[in-house]
Amino acid sequence: MRADEPPRTLADSIRAAGLKVTAPRLAVLRVLDQAPHSTAERLFATVRAELPSTSLQAVYGVLAAFTAAGIAQKIEPAGSPALFERRVGDNHHHIVCTRCSAVHDVDCAVGQAPCLTPAHASGFAVHTAEVTYWGLCPDCQAATSASPSLLSAPAPLSNKGAR
Ligand SMILES: [Zn+2]
Ligand SMILES: [Zn+2]
Repeated sequence: MRADEPPRTLADSIRAAGLKVTAPRLAVLRVLDQAPHSTAERLFATVRAELPSTSLQAVYGVLAAFTAAGIAQKIEPAGSPALFERRVGDNHHHIVCTRCSAVHDVDCAVGQAPCLTPAHASGFAVHTAEVTYWGLCPDCQAATSASPSLLSAPAPLSNKGAR
């Protein structure tokens, strides 16, 4: 049996990040925990049900404080609004569905981050590698197998005609 993270633990991680614990921060962190890869608008919709006085601007403020303090991070897959998540510091990657925009985590590698060692770093001290995989999620594969024309949306890369 896994209970939700008790509020005290959420408060502890806010405090441990050097931030003051407030009701909006607690609410945003809990929603973020339950719904990773959420937009600020989506977090706001859930938080507002609990704290009707919260504004979208306040949620943006909380997210800015969280990302600055390193207890949340923002990801921005191409063509997507900014998404927020609590999972930080492990150099994990994301796989995004090109049809429904579902986002899932992809571990870099257990216990290490081989992509942080590029073949050529041009003298840079690398600290982050952002990798986004694109594809069709299982639901969309099932949905499109009935109508394969949907699969051919983006033109595949090919060397045809290259010279
Ligand atoms: Zn999908
Ligand atoms: Zn993630």
